[in-house]
Amino acid sequence: MLYPQEFDVIVVGGGHAGTEAALAAARMGSKTLLLSHNIETLGQMSCNPSIGGIGKGHLVKEVDALGGAMALATDEGGIQFRILNSSKGPAVRATRAQADRILYKAAIRRMLENQPNLWLFQQAVDDLMVEGDRVVGAVTQVGIRFRSRTVVLTAGTFLDGKIHVGLQNYAAGRAGDPPAVSLSARLKELQLPQGRLKTGTPPRLDGRTIDFSKCSEQPGDGMPGGMNPDDGVPVFSFMGNAQMHPQQMPCWITHTNERTHDIIRSGFDRSPMFTGKIEGVGPRYCPSVEDKINRFTDKDSHQIFLEPEGLTTHEYYPNGISTSLPFDIQYDLVRSMKGLENCHILRPGYAIEYDYFDPRALKNSFETKQIQGLFFAGQINGTTGYEEAAAQGLFAGINAALQCRGESAWTPARDQAYLGVLVDDLVTQGVTEPYRMFTSRAEFRLQLREDNADARLTEVGRQMGLVDDARWDALSRKRDAVSRETERLKSTWVNPRNLVAEESIRVLGKAIEHEHNLFDLLRRPNVTYQALMSLDGGRMACADVSRETLGDLSETVIEQVEIAAKYSGYIDRQKGEVERAAFYEHLRLPETLDYMQVSALSIEARQKLAKHRPETLGQASRISGITPASVSLLLIHLKKGG
Ligand code: FAD
Repeated sequence: MLYPQEFDVIVVGGGHAGTEAALAAARMGSKTLLLSHNIETLGQMSCNPSIGGIGKGHLVKEVDALGGAMALATDEGGIQFRILNSSKGPAVRATRAQADRILYKAAIRRMLENQPNLWLFQQAVDDLMVEGDRVVGAVTQVGIRFRSRTVVLTAGTFLDGKIHVGLQNYAAGRAGDPPAVSLSARLKELQLPQGRLKTGTPPRLDGRTIDFSKCSEQPGDGMPGGMNPDDGVPVFSFMGNAQMHPQQMPCWITHTNERTHDIIRSGFDRSPMFTGKIEGVGPRYCPSVEDKINRFTDKDSHQIFLEPEGLTTHEYYPNGISTSLPFDIQYDLVRSMKGLENCHILRPGYAIEYDYFDPRALKNSFETKQIQGLFFAGQINGTTGYEEAAAQGLFAGINAALQCRGESAWTPARDQAYLGVLVDDLVTQGVTEPYRMFTSRAEFRLQLREDNADARLTEVGRQMGLVDDARWDALSRKRDAVSRETERLKSTWVNPRNLVAEESIRVLGKAIEHEHNLFDLLRRPNVTYQALMSLDGGRMACADVSRETLGDLSETVIEQVEIAAKYSGYIDRQKGEVERAAFYEHLRLPETLDYMQVSALSIEARQKLAKHRPETLGQASRISGITPASVSLLLIHLKKGG
């Protein structure tokens, strides 16, 4: 049957990429259809129930700044929030939340069901309709033909998916879900360049059988016993607040031990990874426990986080023991750890192999070069992670909608967004293993912070029609307040004659000799905004003025003012450094340079440089996997005489 209505955008797949793609296209006014296997699994987290982390949290904030769903759903479903790297610079600070997977999914589904211009339909897609070199729709398992001007494919780990537990394997998209076999065959027929990757997940545990008294408790930030208990629980979305959070829960920590490692080693001969049953390459940064024991032989213990899966379930996710070892080994290895001696496994761990498509066959809009109107996003592009998928989905949804409007594609630059870094890395360098985001991938990371994602992107989102009035008003008020407060600090002068010596030492570390404005004083490393406001014993009434000026935005506004004062010098210097790097194309690299000793570089970059031994910096920059950030770090190393 040919479905009577025609759509602008069809999104295939209702995971993290698909839901953001569908919401974005619909927000931009495109008539959008989301086709997925099962409406009950929209927004489902296939693996750990957590969102964010370093690099990933940055992407979530960017998706949020562009009006996306992930951060808001996390605020609604988050049962533990933490700010990682909170003692480090703002560029690498990142939000991470543990989510109740049922609440998270419910929030995503509600947003999808209430989005104007968006229709949902439950069916497997088995085929694409292609006329000449243009996609014109999708065909479902029971032969319903949906016509559309563009198709965004976000099939995740489902394309020809194969699950492995020990030497047993079977076809599946993930545990409990069917694979997409016909669609995979159709894509192969279209001769889009593809390969195989793999990922894995740990067994899930019944919390009633865990002895938590033998584990260490890890409360979230803003909770009693956690970091900053007086500051309140962190919030993910720029439009979120802590009142949206449900009840908060702690995580727990246990460890593997020598016995665990012996048990794991005893299963190596039945491991699908080590016996060659799995051909796909897995994520190096998220290795299975057998891979860790095999590679890091000198470590006699690994930390394992026991993460609650939700408020209404006893299920726990043991983060750190992803495995595809046979179930008898899984059973023994779990029970060898402290607190888990009597633990019941609810679901076995497994690995999954799936098709991905070489992202170098995509334009920088994520439209395939071969078939017009066909866009790919998410795990299908060789990435791993919900956040990477969500960011790509939003991006592809935007560009599909822009194409329908007859407008040119939006391609954020590398200095504008992590999204720009992600897209550029994928389409120019491709992947050799599942790609995940790190702050080290961004050469402009001082300016690509979580805290300023709204300042970087909400305006462009507003212009494209992605951002609603409430979000736009919030940004406008925040921007005004930041600039008013910055001006006030710049024009408020502190005269040493008016300062009591002790006060000056308390706040500024030492007495000042001549007049300074507050903004200049704030540039000093140990001077905080709050302390500055207490300066002058109230004679300038700084604190009162600020509260009045900033209103309820005060915390986020103060953060921006403080970062601008303290880091603008570094940011400007970094920009200059990267620009100058362009001139070093022909700079010769010393033949004797021992790359493994260049500690500023990631291990991956060191290994690649050591293997390829480029003659010039220009050559180094073109090695697949060597990012512009690595090039600038290498340059800095050379300048230091390394
Ligand atoms: P998915 O979330 O996989 O969603 C795909 C969607 O498309 C599903 O709704 C599916 O039903 C639908 N679909 C597929 N084919 C069709 C079709 N033909 N017709 C209709 N609907 C279709 N990430 C990490 O960051 N760390 C990890 O440790 C990690 N471990 C993982 C372990 C496992 C076992 C799995 C399965 C995934 C793991 N991931 C991990 C990856 C993470 O789940 C994905 O990166 C993320 O979910 C990708 O999002 P996506 O939207 O691209 O695809």
